Amino acid sequence: MTFEDLENYFVSQNEKKFKATQVFEWLYKKRVSNFYDMTNLKKELQEKLTNTFTIRTIKLITKREDKDAIKFLFELNDNNKIEAVLMKHDYGNSLCISTEVGCNMGCAFCESGRLKKVRHLETHEMVEQILLVEEILNIRISHVVLMGIGEPFDNYDNVIKFINIINSNKGIDIGARHITVSTCGLIPKIEEFIKDGKQVNLAISLHAPNNELRSKLMPINKAYPLEDLFKVLKKYIELTNRRVTFEYILLDGVNDSDECAKELANLLKGMNAYVNLIPYNETSHIEFKRSKRIMEFYDILKKNKINVTVRREFGRELKAACGQLRSNYEEVE
Ligand code: SAH
Repeated sequence: MTFEDLENYFVSQNEKKFKATQVFEWLYKKRVSNFYDMTNLKKELQEKLTNTFTIRTIKLITKREDKDAIKFLFELNDNNKIEAVLMKHDYGNSLCISTEVGCNMGCAFCESGRLKKVRHLETHEMVEQILLVEEILNIRISHVVLMGIGEPFDNYDNVIKFINIINSNKGIDIGARHITVSTCGLIPKIEEFIKDGKQVNLAISLHAPNNELRSKLMPINKAYPLEDLFKVLKKYIELTNRRVTFEYILLDGVNDSDECAKELANLLKGMNAYVNLIPYNETSHIEFKRSKRIMEFYDILKKNKINVTVRREFGRELKAACGQLRSNYEEVE
């Protein structure tokens, strides 16, 4: 529930609106997971809330750890499994969360899509990923990226509600600039996102500089080709004055040639954009290989005055790529 939802609930129950502030403080500042621990609420109200709501619905199945990343496998109420990955940066703790069980976007290189979408995540299941990781490790999350299993804009309403809750100063209070939503390019939802005026960062999974190649890698490109995608992104930049991040996985012999780099530079010329080159995280199921030309590709973009960085790798040993832990787990099960 958003803070406003909870206020409305209390009003509908002939309780004071102010109760919402108290409950949010217990949930998100003092971090209790039981209504009976909310000691400034009357016993009857504690009981009523206990009978009406649940605070925790997901649980930890397993976690894997290396020096700068920890991968979590969670089980939902209905036994479905999702993943989250904690990345420890020098600027804080960033959590990559899932937005759906499986994914229907069918990107050729991505493990998540091998398991078709079973359902979207409820808002609380996204919020709980943060709260549980914080509880398990006794840390605070400072940054959130919506880059786990699922396509966030395929679960738009719940994702926006999730962002509202974690961004609210009454909730987890993570600054909008510390939240990044990544999409494969669902244009109607990007339009809606522009209208909603959220100040969170927008990242686009691009992965190819032309329609022919992009349609081979990402079926969504057939519905929403690059010229339409770029039209809406230019509108986004113009209206919000914000920069767009482009994610570009470098796949050996597929999209890593000098020609691709030049074409990409042309596509992005003059745009308030930056490119995040991603070393491919190879999986045992998918044929693609990691490119050995990352720095060559980087240099061409740089020479063409495109802002570019190479994504630091976390959890390669952990099978931290989108969907890998879950699909490994389900195979041994
Ligand atoms: N569906 C959303 C968000 C989830 S995927 C999107 O498409 O943006 C998050 C990012 O991880 C995407 O850029 C995706 O293309 C990338 N990705 C998927 N599999 C990967 C792999 N094996 N190695 C590296 N990046 C991967």
